[in-house]
Amino acid sequence: MVSQRLQTIPASGTIAISNLVSQMKAEGIDIVSFSMGEPDFTTPSNVIDAACDSLHEGFTHYTPSTGIPELRKAVAEYTKKIDNVPCAAENVLITPSKQAIFMSALAFIDPGDEVILPDPSWVSYEACVRLAGGVPVYIPTRFEDNFVVDPALIEAAITPRTKMIILNTPSNPTGCVIPKDKLKQIADIAMAHNIKVMSDEIYSAIVYEGEHTSIASFPGMFDHTILISGLSKSFAMTGWRLGWAIASAEDIKNINKLQSHSISCCVSFVQKAAVEALSGPQQSKYDMVKAFKKRRDLALDLIRDIPGMECNTPAGAFYLFPKYNKDIPSAKLAEALLKEGHVAVTPGTAFGPCGEGFFRISYATSEDQIQEGIARIKKSMAQM
Ligand code: GLU
Repeated sequence: MVSQRLQTIPASGTIAISNLVSQMKAEGIDIVSFSMGEPDFTTPSNVIDAACDSLHEGFTHYTPSTGIPELRKAVAEYTKKIDNVPCAAENVLITPSKQAIFMSALAFIDPGDEVILPDPSWVSYEACVRLAGGVPVYIPTRFEDNFVVDPALIEAAITPRTKMIILNTPSNPTGCVIPKDKLKQIADIAMAHNIKVMSDEIYSAIVYEGEHTSIASFPGMFDHTILISGLSKSFAMTGWRLGWAIASAEDIKNINKLQSHSISCCVSFVQKAAVEALSGPQQSKYDMVKAFKKRRDLALDLIRDIPGMECNTPAGAFYLFPKYNKDIPSAKLAEALLKEGHVAVTPGTAFGPCGEGFFRISYATSEDQIQEGIARIKKSMAQM
């Protein structure tokens, strides 16, 4: 009875492991989890207070499907100020970031359309493309190049059916930050071929070396971009499910059609809290990034200390993507680490074929957990 559409995709690899970890923990097994890309910090208290105040004020009803006007305005101002993207409130649709990706795929991809995306890249892009009937076209990236996608390979992959390019900088799972000159080349290619870029910039605030550039900031590129972002990672707000899409007013109108027939609108009091996150004090965001950098350096030292393991220095996000030298498929390795070593990682192949021989560690967890978890990886790898 399951639709053919659904049969084209697996369940999300990241969510599947996280569910398994929860189940093992509930059974009393002591697991160190590096599986979920989720900050362990609590949401900043000013944001929590804003949500509580709004609840007590009775702000508990539907909102406009596009989002409350003050939040659309706050998102536009924040994105303009920080990333130099020429947007206004009418260019913003408030929606959970993953929903934004899903709806953008449904809104712009027709059956048979090709969508170019770097390999490896985050687990759900391919699934969203397939659910829309599109054909994912992977562009291999290399450990030796810090996983930066080569614009020439993107251009070579373009056919008359190419509809979209999906980018994610900083990247999940590699932590790669695409340099400005490469992004400019990709923008020029997209404009020359009239192709949309879905640019997932959810980790834009979490950059340790170099700087984040939004592809939507290049002259002429705004109308070709659907910029996706949200509060989950930079404000430690994963459970609040609040993000946005930024695009031309016409594209936003079209994506909003899907929103109006699906979730209707985002949670009302969460939208009020989001205004506070974006317009209130920003210090907690900076403090979290500082802590992530310290954790990255610790995790890198420990991983590189494991015989046979190599890892490049990710410039952003909160993931390591180490390469191991055992002749074991990454899915099997991750399974063995979880079942025997009691440490959860995500297999590299969850992110595309080029992820074979790698696994992903989310280091958005305490230094104690990082020490303990990587010690378990070291011990288990020695026994394989
Ligand atoms: N984006 C996070 C991750 O990759 C959360 C899980 C998910 O949405 O896939 O771990």
